[in-house]
Amino acid sequence: MLPGSAGAGRWADGSAARGHRGGRETVPCNLAAPMAIFPIRTFPDPVLRMRASPVIEFDEELRRLVADMLETMYAAPGVGLTANQIGVASSVFVFDIGEGPHHVVNPVLEETSGSWTYEEGCLSVPERYWPIARPAFSAVSGVDVFGGQVRYEGDQLLGRVLQHEFDHIQGTLLLSRLGRRTRKQALRELREESMRSA
Ligand code: ZN
Repeated sequence: MLPGSAGAGRWADGSAARGHRGGRETVPCNLAAPMAIFPIRTFPDPVLRMRASPVIEFDEELRRLVADMLETMYAAPGVGLTANQIGVASSVFVFDIGEGPHHVVNPVLEETSGSWTYEEGCLSVPERYWPIARPAFSAVSGVDVFGGQVRYEGDQLLGRVLQHEFDHIQGTLLLSRLGRRTRKQALRELREESMRSA
């Protein structure tokens, strides 16, 4: 997953190429019912443009949401997923870049630095990838499903996943990170596509 390493390839909210499945056992809850896989909302679904609301109840429903999001992310497969991608406008994202499942509730992007251009995609804009420049390093803080403080930081893939998912929380898709001309062309193609499939 280093740039330039053999088969570094692409990234779509995660990359199918990585093939890693984190352990379910680390999902921080004991839920009686099996976890569910939800359909992933795709562009131009308006929920993807909504700024997520802060979570205020740290209850069973939240733990269920996180468990279902992880299940949905692994099934996609992807390395990150935000609640609004399954139609829930709550400030929660999950990720697993190959080191096991993690989640952040009410994330705050605290720090970014450097620059790294990498081929990036999004589960909500399926099968499309663009080289996107972002800060190489990022740090996100927030809380877990029990309200305990968490902080994740990293560069390259982790740094990018944290920024990509934090963008989703703000209602921002990776399309907004494209250069003007590329974005215009991408939007035109996506609109034509969604009209054809409507
Ligand atoms: Zn995405």
